[in-house]
Amino acid sequence: MKAVQYRTVGASPEVVRIPVPTAGPGQVLLRMTAAGVCHSDIAVMSLPVQQLGFPLPLTLGHEGVGTVAAVGDGVVGIEVGDAVAVYGPWGCGTCAKCAEGKENYCLRAKELGIYPPGLGAPGAMAEYMVVDSPRHLVPLGGLDPVQAVPLTDAGLTPYHAIKRSLPKLVPGSTAVVIGTGGLGHVAIQLLRALSPAWVIALDVNEEKLALAREVGAHEAILSDAESVAVVRELTGGKGAEAVFDFVGAAPTVATAGGCVAVEGDVTIVGLGGGSLAVGFGTTPYEASVTAPYWGSRSELMEVLDLARAGVISVHVERYGIDAAPTAYQRLHDGTVRGRAVILPQE
Ligand code: NAD
Ligand code: ZN
Ligand code: ZN
Repeated sequence: MKAVQYRTVGASPEVVRIPVPTAGPGQVLLRMTAAGVCHSDIAVMSLPVQQLGFPLPLTLGHEGVGTVAAVGDGVVGIEVGDAVAVYGPWGCGTCAKCAEGKENYCLRAKELGIYPPGLGAPGAMAEYMVVDSPRHLVPLGGLDPVQAVPLTDAGLTPYHAIKRSLPKLVPGSTAVVIGTGGLGHVAIQLLRALSPAWVIALDVNEEKLALAREVGAHEAILSDAESVAVVRELTGGKGAEAVFDFVGAAPTVATAGGCVAVEGDVTIVGLGGGSLAVGFGTTPYEASVTAPYWGSRSELMEVLDLARAGVISVHVERYGIDAAPTAYQRLHDGTVRGRAVILPQE
């Protein structure tokens, strides 16, 4: 079968032929319909070998949907032919966090050598993939697979981040979204669907700002050294009750800290390596700062329900599997509008 692999540290991903895997006991084999291209893959492919944490080659793709092709011994509750989305942040399934469905925060994954698909385990950007447990599958329930695949990360991650701050996003409040790419353009829609907050989007690219307006941002402004002053002005001086940073670089994290209101939330989602100092007189009174990772199993079900309700929809660019390296290049260059999705069977 064809697979998109990261094979050599520092090199671009390659399309290669590898054997079709088989489902062992307790596992599920999926015939992949679609796989999303995330900026985190580029972050991983930028790491020096000492920081990689798992061996190469790696089949990429941590956003996946497919149909069940075979089930291993002992698998119940799922049938060949079922259309499913893959919950990516695999955990042990039995620790206290996993028991709550928060496998993204599994307490034992590192010790047990458990990695998400596409981020250590063989991923979704292949004609077939093995999912370690039916626990990590959610029925698509009629959703279009190409539209739905980014929901497993570009939907789930902002959903988890935004859900925490909803009590603060009351009428008259403001939410700021920094970076309106794959995650950010879904975040804007989630904020509009789940809260009455005024939404201000920031990006460095005019086309991304146009997309931000199209998907529901009330204001879309250039992200630069003036952004803090502009957000303060737009909010009558008080700042934003919640700031979501989908870049996470030093300048955007500084913007986030400068925009946040008294008792507001700064949520750093992007892996840009920036950090924000918190202290008396440094941040507004009682502002909180957090850096979450992905989301829980039940939250993925909630995101898919929102999509079925028609209140969020992902803008996708489709690529056949041979064009996957081009999709990564375009994401790197900042020219993808919404999310790039690879069709492994085309
Ligand atoms: P993307 O490339 O689709 O979007 C990034 C956007 O940020 C682009 O629109 C780009 O123009 C914009 N941007 C770049 N520099 C900017 C700046 N200085 N100010 C404002 N906007 C700027 O990327 P994505 O796939 O949506 O991922 C976003 C980030 O989130 C990445 O860092 C990714 O690694 C990270 N991520 C984190 C998690 C998590 O669990 N914490 C999960 C998924 C992705
Ligand atoms: Zn991702
Ligand atoms: Zn666990």
